[in-house]
Amino acid sequence: MKNFLLHNYGERDLVIARGEGSWVWDDKGNRYLDCVAGVAVNAFGHGFAPVLTAIREQLAGYLHASNLYLLPAQMELGEALCAALKMDKVFFCNSGTEANEGAIKFARRFWMHGLQESDSSRFEILTFTNSFHGRTYGSMAATGQEKIRKGFGPLPEGFKVLPVNDAEALRAALSPKTAAILFEPILAEGGIISLDDKFIKVLQEAQDQGILLIADEIQTGLGRTGTLLGSWNFGQGKDNKLVLNPDIITLAKPLGGGLPLGAVLMKEKIAEAIHVGDHGSTFGGNPVACAAGLAILKALTADGFLADMQKRMEVLHQGLVALVEKKSKMGIVCGPVLGKGFLTGFKYGGDLAALLAACRKQGLLVHRAGADVLRLLPPLNISLEEIAEVIDRLDRAMIK
Ligand code: PLP
Repeated sequence: MKNFLLHNYGERDLVIARGEGSWVWDDKGNRYLDCVAGVAVNAFGHGFAPVLTAIREQLAGYLHASNLYLLPAQMELGEALCAALKMDKVFFCNSGTEANEGAIKFARRFWMHGLQESDSSRFEILTFTNSFHGRTYGSMAATGQEKIRKGFGPLPEGFKVLPVNDAEALRAALSPKTAAILFEPILAEGGIISLDDKFIKVLQEAQDQGILLIADEIQTGLGRTGTLLGSWNFGQGKDNKLVLNPDIITLAKPLGGGLPLGAVLMKEKIAEAIHVGDHGSTFGGNPVACAAGLAILKALTADGFLADMQKRMEVLHQGLVALVEKKSKMGIVCGPVLGKGFLTGFKYGGDLAALLAACRKQGLLVHRAGADVLRLLPPLNISLEEIAEVIDRLDRAMIK
């Protein structure tokens, strides 16, 4: 049969027929432990009952109505998100790249119409090498990977990509033109690179100067790194103040429980700078996706869930550290273990594509990050038995 789908995703030969919990089945009946989880979308695996129930209930009402009207599902999710993430206002869209487009627009608008002196000369958005923020023009211009940007010029102006974790370069780049710094707390697609303490300090310095911090929490957010926001992993400062306390947060991936949903959360001062008509979306905040999102947020914030998840994260981490040590002794070039929580993986010195294929043969779906990192993104509710299976299957796939 002729395949009419554009080849932009490369060759795809695995047909996903069905999913349940942490597992998927192909069209031949083979079962795989799914540590791709829709690339960090399926936070509670496949067929998560609270999400399905919420979707059915909303479907019984309506699928779509328009942002001309108040939609209870949107309002409930907006309130729950702002409460959980300590933000003041939310704008809903459909995807990660759209969330970042919104964040960039809002940050520039803030400097144009903010409450403080109008300062339209502040337009520059600072971003970092190896970052990934999306494929549309603003997000692509913000993305610090040449392979994503190459061949699509001219790109929008006003973006500066700096070397990641270079505190001095960041300090030197702060200028009266700087509107905002857009960063991933852990650069996920670009190779699972965690921001270091020195660098975080300069982010804080910039914020002290009034420069906006935009945290792209599209992959790190909503539990994946052990806390509701990746930015919260940097600990608590004096007076119990969060050390990284972004002005704007972008979310997507797991937010809609598998349906397309993105969000830009912001502090009041930014919301105040946005005027009627400044931004919008036909489908943004679809009520079915929002109902699913509320079920996801409730499950994440249910009593004891995060604490239990952190224990399982530690078990996976210890398992990976031991595996990498054992394989290194056998002469396989691998390690260190990278990332945090269930955004993890390890560097691999061999043929990564071959290793991914070997994992698949062992019934384990994993993905890559950057050029040489094997990435694991298990569902957040993966069980201890399944974590043991992940390590076992990796062990069998990694042979010399
Ligand atoms: N930002 C980050 C950190 C991402 O990981 C991604 C997707 O991988 C995006 C933005 C873009 O999201 P989307 O593919 O939904 O546009």
